[in-house]
Amino acid sequence: MQNLVYHFSMQSMKGGGITLAEDFSIKEISLFRAGGNAEFYAEPRTTDELLSVLHLASERGLHIEVIGAGSHILAPESGISGLLISTRSMKGITIRGDLLTAGPGEMLDGIINIAIDHNLIGLEELGGIPGTIAGALSINASANNRSISNAFFYADYVTTDGRIHRRTFYPDTFSLQDSAFSEDEIIVNVALRLKHSKATAEARLRKEKFVELMFIPPCRRCAGEVFRDLADMKAADLIRQAGFIRDPGIRAEFSDYQSNCIFTYEGCTSDEIFSLILKTAERVYEETGIMLEPSITLLGSFRERWKELSQQSHLRKA
Ligand SMILES: Cc1cc2nc3c(=O)[nH]c(=O)nc-3n(C[C@H](O)[C@H](O)[C@H](O)COP(=O)(O)OP(=O)(O)OC[C@H]3O[C@@H](n4cnc5c(N)ncnc54)[C@H](O)[C@@H]3O)c2cc1C
Repeated sequence: MQNLVYHFSMQSMKGGGITLAEDFSIKEISLFRAGGNAEFYAEPRTTDELLSVLHLASERGLHIEVIGAGSHILAPESGISGLLISTRSMKGITIRGDLLTAGPGEMLDGIINIAIDHNLIGLEELGGIPGTIAGALSINASANNRSISNAFFYADYVTTDGRIHRRTFYPDTFSLQDSAFSEDEIIVNVALRLKHSKATAEARLRKEKFVELMFIPPCRRCAGEVFRDLADMKAADLIRQAGFIRDPGIRAEFSDYQSNCIFTYEGCTSDEIFSLILKTAERVYEETGIMLEPSITLLGSFRERWKELSQQSHLRKA
C-alpha cells in the first residue's frame, strides 16, 4: 500500500486499525499488469472492518468498486475515482461434515486442495482457475462441465448500506458465467456443500490434470476469457469468425490459439487492451449481429464506455 492517508481510531472505525490507501496502483494487483490508480483503496480482513470501511465511504459519498485478487479486471490508465475495496485478505476456512465455509479472500484452487485433504471432493474440475472464491462465485466460474454453483450452499453478503444478508442455493439463481450477486453485494462468506470420499488420491490426480490443462502454454500469459459465451455459441468462435483485429497501435491481440483470450506485449496499457475489446466487439457485431458481453470486470470509465457502446448497438438493432 502507498501513501496511507487515514488511520482510524476505535471510535471512528468499529473494526479498528484499518487504513485506506490513497492513489493505490491497480497495476500492482491486476493480472494484466496494467491500469492507473484508485483514488482510495481498502483491504479489510474481517466483515467488521469491511462494515467500517463502508460506513466511512457512505459518510464521504465515495463511489465503491469491489474486487478480489484482481485476476479478471481491467481499469483505465487514468485510474478510478472513489474507493476500491479488495476482499482478498478476508480469509479463513471451516469444515463441518460435508460443509466447507470460506472467507471471500480464500483462493479457489487452495480451497479445492484443503477440501481434498479433508476427504471432500466435488470441485476438482475447477482446479487452477486463478482468483478468490468470491470472485469465482460472482461469475459462477465454470470449467470442464462443472460450476461453482454445483457445490454452492449459501453465501453471506453485505450491501453498501452496511446490512448483512444470506443467499441460499436456488437452482434458477445461477446460469453459465453469471451468478445471483449484483454489483452492490459484497460476498463475505461462502458455504460449499461437497461430497465425502475416501478416493482422495484419485481426486488429487484428477485436479492436477485440470490444472495442467489450464496452464499449458501460452495460457499462462493471458488474463482469462474476455467475453461471456452465449447459451449455444462460444464467444471464441464468433471472434474467430469475425476476424481478429491486428492493429500496430495496440500491443495486444486476441490469440489464434485461444480466441477469447487477450495476449499482451511488453509495455501494453489497459487503454490499448480496452480499445482492442471495443473494436473486437464492434467487429463481431457488424459481422454477426451479436453483441458480446464482457466476462472480465471493467472498472470506472471503461464500464461507462462499454454501457454507451451496448446502448448504441441496441439502437442500431431497433
Ligand atoms: C488464466 C485464467 C484462466 C481462467 N479460467 C477460467 C475458467 O476456466 N473458468 C472461469 O469461469 N473463469 C476463469 N477465469 C476467470 C476467473 O474466474 C476469475 O479470474 C476469478 O474468478 C476472479 O477472481 P478474483 O478474486 O481474481 O476476482 P477479481 O478479478 O478481482 O474480480 C472479478 C469479479 O469478482 C467480483 N468479486 C470479487 N470479490 C468479490 C466479493 N467479495 N463480493 C462480490 N464480488 C466480488 C468483482 O466485483 C469482479 O466483478 C480465468 C482467469 C484467468 C486469469
